Amino acid sequence: MSGTFDFQLSPYVYPFVKNNNVLLLNTKDMNAMIFNEEEHVATFMRELLKPSSFGVVRLDTTTEQYKNCKTFIDKVCEMGNGSFQKVRQRSKISPVLNPYLLKIRTPAPGAERGENITLVLNHDCPHNCSQCDEYARQFTSCSKRNSNAVMDPDFVKSLFRNLSNPESCTLDVCGGDLSLHPHLDRMIELFSSFSGLCRYHIHCRQYRSSASKLPENAGKVIIVDFPVMDTLCFEHPEKYTYNFVISQKEDLTLCRDYVESYNIPNFYISIMDASRSNGFMKKSIFLLQDELECSLGTFPFKDKVRIINSHYFYKTFILPNGDVYESSVGGPIANLYEETPSNVMDFVRSLHIQSWEKARNANENFNVCTDCLFYDMCPGLW
Ligand code: SF4
Repeated sequence: MSGTFDFQLSPYVYPFVKNNNVLLLNTKDMNAMIFNEEEHVATFMRELLKPSSFGVVRLDTTTEQYKNCKTFIDKVCEMGNGSFQKVRQRSKISPVLNPYLLKIRTPAPGAERGENITLVLNHDCPHNCSQCDEYARQFTSCSKRNSNAVMDPDFVKSLFRNLSNPESCTLDVCGGDLSLHPHLDRMIELFSSFSGLCRYHIHCRQYRSSASKLPENAGKVIIVDFPVMDTLCFEHPEKYTYNFVISQKEDLTLCRDYVESYNIPNFYISIMDASRSNGFMKKSIFLLQDELECSLGTFPFKDKVRIINSHYFYKTFILPNGDVYESSVGGPIANLYEETPSNVMDFVRSLHIQSWEKARNANENFNVCTDCLFYDMCPGLW
């Protein structure tokens, strides 16, 4: 066997690499392949799991890398855990969606596990993205509403005073279009003095109006959906983290092409349930498998999507009128103008703990969850 080949793991295989050890867990039959103290294999797997590899490593059989990893590759293919397919030397690699492309495995730089609050500063936006409502439900995103309400700087000050542990808190700041907020400079001053992590999320259509108004050193996430309406957002890729929204296989190929052509160093993918056929996603992401034998298997598809997008657990959403939500779906549970902020935040925290425990440690799932190898990575807390 000689020539050029593409190696990839099967979508139901979950890979872990630690030091020089590799574990491949087949989530269909729960069989594991373990490779201990195999430096070349660990290096090869690290290359495969780099987000910029998009789940595929191309190998020439004459290379040292292939010779060093041949036994590993043969065993993986023999067990049905991956494929090694002959390709034309200069053909384009077909990207594969793997967990290391998703936020669940690639949290924003500097992110700490802990409380996460999304502050919506305003609702006004001149654009008309067709999936606007769905975006904010499925991942952290701007969202447009028919309301002139804007968040007041004094309201934010009071909220900060009532956070019990701001250092371990992450703030996600969203609009509407942030550039239309009448006191944006004042708001930015407040967020810049916040002791936890703060990052701004803008859509690529808002790049021209908003990007230059946001602080140079702050974390900034640009949401990019397909087709890309304005590529100016890629002019300084080193300054941003890109959140590519994928709802079909073709989007993944386009995403890979943008990452390659613009040398985008930091990005993650949000999957989007656009109510088309979900076959591509179910086939690509093992956590979406229908027959998953852990408590996650009992969740509705839409909730699994939010879990994979790290948009489910420990999330609090606060709107400009003070309404507080403990989830991106459903109605408000309190209003910060009408109730004592510390009581509201305690109440939200207790709801989060209940939903976390319900999901993971429900009586009938107790043994499954505590024994599950995914316990520390599923669902995402970022
Ligand atoms: S740019 Fe954001 S807020 Fe505006 S319409 Fe699009 S998704 Fe909605």
